[in-house]
Formats: sequence, structure tokens, C-alpha cells
Amino acid sequence: MAKKTKKVDTQRIEKAVREILLAVGEDVDREGLKDTPARVARMYVELLRGMREDPNVHLKSVFTEKYDEIVLLRDIPFYSLCEHHMLPFIGTANVAYVPVEKVLGVSKLARVVDCYAGRLQTQERLAYQIADFIMTNLKPMGVAVVLEASHSCMTIRGVKKPGSVMVTSALRGIFRKDPRSRNEVLSLIRDGK
Ligand code: ZN
Repeated sequence: MAKKTKKVDTQRIEKAVREILLAVGEDVDREGLKDTPARVARMYVELLRGMREDPNVHLKSVFTEKYDEIVLLRDIPFYSLCEHHMLPFIGTANVAYVPVEKVLGVSKLARVVDCYAGRLQTQERLAYQIADFIMTNLKPMGVAVVLEASHSCMTIRGVKKPGSVMVTSALRGIFRKDPRSRNEVLSLIRDGK
């Protein structure tokens, strides 16, 4: 991965996009395409913002709380870019954990999802990264992350299966070890559907 501080070379993207347009036989000087390379460059800066974001900044709102049951944030919308085709995959994330005296501000859970989604990703890795970040930094009893997403690279090209949804999960701690805790969290996630 690129260094977090490194700025995106937008001029290089512009040049590359121009090359793609020429390669597919387009007239890069026609009105509709004139500003496309610059627009696409700005788009990638936005879509890959998470590469230059440090998720640790969201740990500033960690509170002490004597709560030791499941905390679940359900249906967090996210969008990411698949690293195989650079096409979007869009869906929802469910993030649950059982705190040990430390809870994270609820909007920060969503920010952590956003930070890891704003990178070139696979859906499997996205689930692991979110789960491992929370496990390492909050040290809860367990973390469960379930992602459901539709991949453009499957719906508009290749096998062309619109409506298909991929589900990935990452279970850590008690959610991995204890079947009762696992069933409890998975049914809490499912009940919201
Ligand atoms: Zn793909």
C-alpha cells in the first residue's frame, strides 16, 4: 500500500485516462470528454481517500462503560472499489462487539468501516481489517463483522448476475470460539432484515 502521507498524483491519472480514451478509439478533444480525465482523477482521490486516512484517529472517542453485552451497529452503508477490476462494490456492514470496559463512540464504528472501504479492496479483506482493528485496539471479548455487498464486476460484466449479493464475515474472540455467542450475534444481525 502507498504511504499514508503520499499525495495522489492526479496528473498521472489524467494522462492515463486520456490514454484509455485514445485506446478505445475516442476523440479526446470532443466536448463531452474534454474534462473527463481531470474529473476521473478527482473521483479516484475521493474513492481511495481511505488510503491516506489513519483509522486510529477514531479511537479518540473511546469511553469507559460497565457494559458487557453485545453492541451492534447494523446496516452501515458502505461502498468500496474491488481491486481486481477497480469497479465499485456497494453494500452494508454490520459490526458487533462485546466490550470489556471500553466502548467506541457509535459514529466512529461507521468511520472505521468508511476508512477501510475507501481503498482498493476485496470484500473478504475488508471484513478482516475492520474486525482486527477493533479487536486490537478496543480489546473486546469478541468482534463480529458481516458484510453484504453487490459487486459491479459481477453484475454488469463477466457472469452478469444482477441482484446477487456476496456475504463475508470475520469473527473474532468469543464469536469465533463460543457457538452460543455466535448464534446470538448472527441472529441479531439477521433480525433486522
Ligand atoms: Zn472485481
